[in-house]
Amino acid sequence: MPFRIVIVGGGIAGFTAAIALRGPDRIITVLEQSRLNKEIGALISLQPNASRIAESVWGLKSELHGDARAIVDEGFRIYNTDGRRDLHDTLKKAATSPDREGDPVVVRTASKVVDCDTLKGTVTLESGEVVTGDLIVGADGIHSAMRKYVLDTEPSALPTGHSAYRLMIPSEVLEKEAPEFCSKINPRDPFTSMMVAQNCRLVMGPGRQGEVYGIVALVPDEQMNEDPNAKQSWVAEGDLSKMLATFSEYPSHSQDLGLWQLRDLDPLDKWHNGRLILIGDAAHAMLPTQGQGASQAIEDAEALGSFFENITNSPSSESISKIFEEIVQARYSRVSLIQAYSRQAAKPATATDDTKKVTMKPDEFMDYNCMYRGAKLWKQQQEVSTAA
Ligand SMILES: Cc1cc2nc3c(=O)[nH]c(=O)nc-3n(C[C@H](O)[C@H](O)[C@H](O)COP(=O)(O)OP(=O)(O)OC[C@H]3O[C@@H](n4cnc5c(N)ncnc54)[C@H](O)[C@@H]3O)c2cc1C
Repeated sequence: MPFRIVIVGGGIAGFTAAIALRGPDRIITVLEQSRLNKEIGALISLQPNASRIAESVWGLKSELHGDARAIVDEGFRIYNTDGRRDLHDTLKKAATSPDREGDPVVVRTASKVVDCDTLKGTVTLESGEVVTGDLIVGADGIHSAMRKYVLDTEPSALPTGHSAYRLMIPSEVLEKEAPEFCSKINPRDPFTSMMVAQNCRLVMGPGRQGEVYGIVALVPDEQMNEDPNAKQSWVAEGDLSKMLATFSEYPSHSQDLGLWQLRDLDPLDKWHNGRLILIGDAAHAMLPTQGQGASQAIEDAEALGSFFENITNSPSSESISKIFEEIVQARYSRVSLIQAYSRQAAKPATATDDTKKVTMKPDEFMDYNCMYRGAKLWKQQQEVSTAA
């Protein structure tokens, strides 16, 4: 019997898990509720911990620099992939490519999962169809529907009191319409810039090798002329005129505008139950202050790939549970610390409990984030220390 893997959610976590898990005698299906044909543009940064995995472990260097048109940000010295849409497309292409090991991943769009039996290893689609897997990966994002099948009580993502508008402006439009701005900040220079005004903050940087300029505008909910409770998804559309009322001095040449209410989760009590494991934002949604959300999803995917590496055919639920536990051991404390630090760096934040304060300095934490070498190495080191 082949090893059947069902991944719920075709975001960055879902597609990287699919890439990591590909191999001989494996049938991998990604079930995505949307049609995957609309994505609000925004820049997304992959930090060295994630770009190292994508490039060295999965061999995606040329795809990331080619299709995703990544650039190296010289200002923050952070490797930037340009555009969530570009990165996402690149990952989808790699997951479904006939040129990688194992069968191409099957992607089923317009396939919303509404139920899961964690013991049987089945998920039920809105249409009533039941899909069976030996392993079910819940990669369905911050508002995960899979989470309730793992936890006894379902936590909700906590609002921080801040939202972020995300927009992209073609650099040539900016140069034509806002020459004064461009004389101070060249939108094609590979630097991240931050502009702080009262409680609002703009974080800006180039994308698509300088073709577009991406802006994240952080604003307290009470200063935003939007109803913060109306939009709770990562991917909501913002209203340009309302945003301009908040940032009245900023040029208005955006192609598309997204509104991103900043929410995170407390660390979950568990990540897995039966044959189901949560990864990415479904398991540990975090604030974007460290730019680690996507990178942590990629680390999760690498861990899945490493710990399931030697499984060649349909595994028993006991061996699945054992592997899940190893993944939790390798990942949980690291991710929870990054979640806590990301929350702490956002002020005012939802964290009120000083006992959970992370005491590392920002540069130490940056090292902690970026120096990670993956769960495979972690596992090898554990084996060496157990043998010694
Ligand atoms: C526009 C944007 C910009 C961002 N910028 C940054 C950044 O610069 N740096 C950073 O670190 N993080 C950023 N983030 C957050 C980061 O993208 C996430 O942390 C990361 O992508 C986690 O991905 P995920 O796959 O876990 O979740 P998601 O990207 O939310 O994907 C979940 C997928 O599951 C699907 N789904 C949900 N429910 C179901 C269901 N019941 N059945 C089937 N499918 C379902 C959804 O349609 C979606 O495609 C950004 C997010 C967005 C939206």
